[in-house]
Amino acid sequence: MNTTLPKLHDRVVIDREHLQELFVALASKGYQIVGPTVRENAIVYDTLVSVNDLPIGYTDEQDGGTYRLKKRSDKALFGYVVGPHSWKKFLFPPVIRLWQARREGNGFEVVPENTEAPKLAFLGVRSCEIHAISIQDKVFMRDDYSDPTYRSRRNSLCIIAINCGEAGGTCFCTSMQTGPRVTSGFDLALTEVLSNEQHFFVVEVGSQLGSELLQTIPFRGASKEDIQIAENIVTQTAEHMGRSLDTTNIKDLLYRNLDHPRWDDVASRCLTCSNCTMVCPTCFCTTVEDVTDLTGEQAERWRKWDSCFTMDFSYIFGGSIRPSTKSRYRQWMTHKLASWIDQFGTSGCVGCGRCITWCPVGIDITEEVRAIRASESLSTQAAKEQQ
Ligand code: SF4
Ligand code: SF4
Repeated sequence: MNTTLPKLHDRVVIDREHLQELFVALASKGYQIVGPTVRENAIVYDTLVSVNDLPIGYTDEQDGGTYRLKKRSDKALFGYVVGPHSWKKFLFPPVIRLWQARREGNGFEVVPENTEAPKLAFLGVRSCEIHAISIQDKVFMRDDYSDPTYRSRRNSLCIIAINCGEAGGTCFCTSMQTGPRVTSGFDLALTEVLSNEQHFFVVEVGSQLGSELLQTIPFRGASKEDIQIAENIVTQTAEHMGRSLDTTNIKDLLYRNLDHPRWDDVASRCLTCSNCTMVCPTCFCTTVEDVTDLTGEQAERWRKWDSCFTMDFSYIFGGSIRPSTKSRYRQWMTHKLASWIDQFGTSGCVGCGRCITWCPVGIDITEEVRAIRASESLSTQAAKEQQ
């Protein structure tokens, strides 16, 4: 038991052999630990009980429409980037019953839902993902409108973050200023160091809870050299982003180009499968479905994830507002990168790259913006030459 606990923003070092004790500390505080693990040839987020459930010695290769797991030459625990899952599935579940009612004589009785939230600890949260969670906070935890399921799960959440040790082929968090360095919104932030036969974690304390978790875990104070090694890892990651996105005046750029021919071009490739919205950590669209049993004694209302790529999503009396693929792709991208800023004061994109990796035809949001921007630059240049 450590009697002197580190303070906020202090950095300590935990050796790899003691990381299991973080699991024990979280469990002893009643947390269900969720984190990365290998399932069906991908790294997904699921319940973990020990360090051995992590994807030890794995990495991933990602590109447009491509994802492949590979073995590393070392035993890194976090040597990969983000996979098809995001944390939103735990805070904002894909399917949830909102209410149910039973017939009672000539009326009905609403049966209260169990809204008790699981006490979750997310382990291995990347910087872009912390930003995605804070974007969803703006959607679901407003003072005037608040989602009770999200709020209760979010309020009891513990976040153990990880600074990225390498960038994925579709990552562009530096362009969106959302990473790769974890800067806020965490209880503990780990940087994994593997060098000269040494394997340890430089750990930054981000909250009182984070400090308390260290009570039963053997650690030592981080030296200047340890801190510098950890800083260098993140700096190198930032220098090796797989993609980039020029966000200069991006809102106006997209609003100016609602009739750009590029939307027809992307529509000729897009399958409207909605994969991009399902994997996106910030997308939040839902639909509700009411069901009754055959006797008419019981009725239920369910909320399910939906997507602006489905025809039904924009259906109102008389038809769908966005019947074409072009209008649906334009809606998605313009919302993410432009009208989201008007609505929530922030971009709806954190540069995680999932929509690029998991698009079956490899449509790349960074490339679509680049194409529109490049055509504007060309026409400006042509106009100047004519003058
Ligand atoms: S952009 Fe790609 S992932 Fe998104 S709907 Fe079109 S085909 Fe599917
Ligand atoms: S739009 Fe694409 S890159 Fe941006 S946050 Fe969503 S999935 Fe990630």
